[in-house]
Amino acid sequence: MVKGSCHCGNVQLSVQKLTETATKCNCSICSRYAAIWGYFTESDVVVSVGSKGISAYCHGDKTINFNRCNECGCVTHYTSTTPSPGARLAVNYRMFPDFFNSQVKIRRFDGADTWQYLD
Ligand SMILES: [Zn+2]
Repeated sequence: MVKGSCHCGNVQLSVQKLTETATKCNCSICSRYAAIWGYFTESDVVVSVGSKGISAYCHGDKTINFNRCNECGCVTHYTSTTPSPGARLAVNYRMFPDFFNSQVKIRRFDGADTWQYLD
């Protein structure tokens, strides 16, 4: 398993392995969070939330919850507002120390405008 966590350790994430690519999106929210997303499904990720809990931010068409730790504020993952085992769960690879030494290719996604990858 590859493990990630927020800064204070309240939110723990684990995945079987890192994906081959990651997404850096320039939409209004991702650009502000500076997140680098790894896309999984809910059934692929173990999310463990400690006693401090998490809060979610949901905007626009209200399909995605951006989840952050209540203690340290790190944006750890996003989830669908209509959960199901096959629904997308994106982890923020910035929470995963192994990501920085990995071969994961970062792709730039134009979420602000065309909704296309820019590479
Ligand atoms: Zn935290």
